[in-house]
Amino acid sequence: MEVYKFGGASVQNAENIRQLANIVKQGPRPLIVVVSAMGKTTNKLERIANAYYLHNRDYKNDVLELKKYHFSVAQELFEPQDKVFTKLENLFGQLNEQLQRQPSMNYDYDYDRIVHFGELLSTTIISCYLNRTGIKNLWIDARELIKTDSDFRRAKVMWAEAQKRIKERLTFTDTDIYITQGFIGSNINGHPVTLGREGSDFSAAILAWATDAQKVTVWKDVEGIYSADPKLWQEAQRFDQLSYDEAIELAFYGAKVIHPKTLKPLKEKSIPLYVRSFINLRAKGTVITDFDRDLSPMMPVIIVKDNQTLISIKRQDSGFISEQDMELVFSIINHYKLNNNVMQRSALSFSFCIDFDRVHLAFFIEELRRHFSVKYNTGLRLITIRHYDAETIKKMTAGREIFLHQQSRTNVYLVVR
Ligand code: ASP
Ligand code: MG
Repeated sequence: MEVYKFGGASVQNAENIRQLANIVKQGPRPLIVVVSAMGKTTNKLERIANAYYLHNRDYKNDVLELKKYHFSVAQELFEPQDKVFTKLENLFGQLNEQLQRQPSMNYDYDYDRIVHFGELLSTTIISCYLNRTGIKNLWIDARELIKTDSDFRRAKVMWAEAQKRIKERLTFTDTDIYITQGFIGSNINGHPVTLGREGSDFSAAILAWATDAQKVTVWKDVEGIYSADPKLWQEAQRFDQLSYDEAIELAFYGAKVIHPKTLKPLKEKSIPLYVRSFINLRAKGTVITDFDRDLSPMMPVIIVKDNQTLISIKRQDSGFISEQDMELVFSIINHYKLNNNVMQRSALSFSFCIDFDRVHLAFFIEELRRHFSVKYNTGLRLITIRHYDAETIKKMTAGREIFLHQQSRTNVYLVVR
């Protein structure tokens, strides 16, 4: 048994969906196929959710565009009378029904109720298309498999319950291919949840873990994992192999290849993860396994994370920053569900970087200001260099203003503009 995962880019148009069919057709059996939302659908749904929550009707146009997009892709793949169009109509009907309700008082809850539609739409199109082209499969609702707590927008998996459901439902007696959604699940009351942005890789890992799969293959628009973003750096080189731990570090600092949570369940069961190109099927890709070295080949790895906000706090009485002060800061970060990336403490100040969050930042700063004096800069870039050397640091900082520079044995962190 194997698990395939296709990301947003690999299902963004009819041509790519045909290529997906081609890959699945040649693939192993039994097979679980996990699919993300098409193209930039999740970003658009996020904008819709934000506008809806703020009682701003501007989202109507976005909903129409989203509908047009999905229908136009389907029109390229299906005969006009196909049942898929009714299914898509139903899903958009459900989305509009949600949008007609009053927003609740809980942004994260509303967000999940809206944003999870992206994966329902993509998997509906793909499952029907594969069936039409003779690749028999069953569409499975991930909300019935991936059970989580009620921490909406970053729900935590209830592992034992999820495994029980996955094993009961995915028996492979009725088919040898299941198609299901990445990124989504539901809580114990059946309310839809999401697992955190880019969470489809993680879904693939959960399914592989629960079924003791032989391997997971993530099909991407790049030919594996690189020492830097190959779209930005010509010198970037592809790794043949990475250890789980090295890959976890890379993912944590924002290498966009794999969702950071993905690797832990795979490591636990020694299930290898292959990252391969869905365009160039002959390319070798990268495999993440129980590998006894960190990297092969060994070289500095550059990870760039944009859209960072650097916040510095001081005590209002100009005193030393204490452990209690930091505890308070972290509890506020946690309350707003922000991602903290790098931090530095001096006697009188404490600085940390978070991902920019349009909805929560102002409230977050306001709350910090109740306790501390606060300064912040937005629009910064966090550069992490693993296995660094002086030359790479110089190259990455040339001509830039440096806001924070931190060095450990293996990593350098630079917050720059
Ligand atoms: N569609 C979701 C997102 O864009 C999940 C994923 O693509 O992995 O974040
Ligand atoms: Mg994606």
